[in-house]
Amino acid sequence: MSDTFRSLSPADPADEIGRFAVWDADAIAEAIGRAREAFPHWRDAGFEARAMVLRRFRDLAAERKEELAQLIAREMGKALWDARGEAALLPAKVDVTLEHGMGYAETLTAGAAARATFHPRGVLAVLGPFNFPAHLPNGHIVPALATGNSVVFKPSDLTPAVGEWMQRLWRDAGLPAGVFELVQGGAETGQALALDEGVDGVLFTGSYAVGRALREATLDQPDKLLALEMGGKNAMIVLEDADLELAAAEAALSITATTGQRCSCLSRLFVHHTVLDELQERLIDILSGLNIGPPLEEGVFMGPLVSRAAFERVQQMRAKAEEAGGERVFRGETLRIAPYIAPGLVRFKTTEQTHAYQREELFGPEAALYPIDDLEHGIAAVNDSEYGLAASIMSRSRGRFDRCVGRVRTGILNWNKGTIGASGRLPFGGGGKSGNDRPAGILATVYCTVPQSHLEFEGKLDPESLPPGFPRS
Ligand code: NAD
Repeated sequence: MSDTFRSLSPADPADEIGRFAVWDADAIAEAIGRAREAFPHWRDAGFEARAMVLRRFRDLAAERKEELAQLIAREMGKALWDARGEAALLPAKVDVTLEHGMGYAETLTAGAAARATFHPRGVLAVLGPFNFPAHLPNGHIVPALATGNSVVFKPSDLTPAVGEWMQRLWRDAGLPAGVFELVQGGAETGQALALDEGVDGVLFTGSYAVGRALREATLDQPDKLLALEMGGKNAMIVLEDADLELAAAEAALSITATTGQRCSCLSRLFVHHTVLDELQERLIDILSGLNIGPPLEEGVFMGPLVSRAAFERVQQMRAKAEEAGGERVFRGETLRIAPYIAPGLVRFKTTEQTHAYQREELFGPEAALYPIDDLEHGIAAVNDSEYGLAASIMSRSRGRFDRCVGRVRTGILNWNKGTIGASGRLPFGGGGKSGNDRPAGILATVYCTVPQSHLEFEGKLDPESLPPGFPRS
């Protein structure tokens, strides 16, 4: 492991959080070997013994949540309120997994003599994204460990310190050696880990481009589980009967939370043409009042983007809005330098969405407004996307929301709540370029296990039960 990389705070490039070794192929193989060796012991320890370690992890995560929040804010730049929200989700994930998630991977009985049991897969690789560097990997790791798998975790190379922090927490919680391994590095490390024959499944949260590459690279390993949680081009329908104050607040929050860097952030608003001007005005009012500043400063709403490279990417995409046929109706301002960024709004005349600006994930605090004539028009416009993660319907009518349920093709569909709202007690994931039908959230225990079905019989041979022509003794 001769190469190293540095983790620098996006808010202050002079703030070096640490230097980390890039794990090479041999070191990765050794980590997988340790996880393989530990696996049968962890599996056979039984659920109660595993749950005890998980609860210790929960208690430590609760005790140290402020320390984690500060580290997240410093390393990836999300504002402290947001980082605190993320840190609080770690202990919560343990409780929800033990109390509810395990129920989805419990023995399934079909009468007195037939049942299915659920078993860990073995060694699971977890590849984490930068935007929720603790909560999203944790959302795979906790169910994987609870169901008896061992884990090799590779955090994003933008958030290696958070990865190390998590490793320390598992160690302090008393997790046996080898059950949780950490490897560090970027794409090459991730690829070497994911493709290793000793890995039984890959639990990935990240971009569509990388998810696609993983799918392609594992074509010859059909038995390897691939759970892909990828990006979004999320949408909100605002109908003429919506509470516009609520719609504007929920939309603005969904556009800008985590500086627009959540998979569930809002980028397309389909608004009834009679209320579009008013909603636009309300949105501009809110967006121009956001407190953009250093993530570790109390009272700041929005920190910088995660890196300069991310800033360049977002700016390049933004510059294409007019080429796509849109009119920039709001260009926010910030006196701070890149990767600090201000929110933006673009308005289109029709719901035709043909340009990359309108179809690809932006991953920054910006959204497009489109006029619609009615609900059916809105549903069609939302569905005109390769992504399928999250959508919201803003209307006072529950009936109109119900009309969308099952028709809007997204894994998450909220009513009078923004796209970023999600419950830990529910599945989380989407179709198309957003996922491969392995929803995470409460159902993560399902992809962490394999079922085995049993017909069970205690007794003697009943000759009457044999088919005709079959010899009786
Ligand atoms: P990314 O795809 O760039 O990286 C994700 C992880 O994959 C990182 O650990 C990275 O080092 C690793 N990686 C990169 N190239 C690889 C390769 N060729 N083989 C194996 N591993 C590789 O994603 P990101 O920029 O860290 O995160 C942002 C993306 O994640 C956005 O698209 C966002 O929508 C998505 N996301 C999805 C969800 C969800 O639940 N659906 C949640 C959060 C983020």
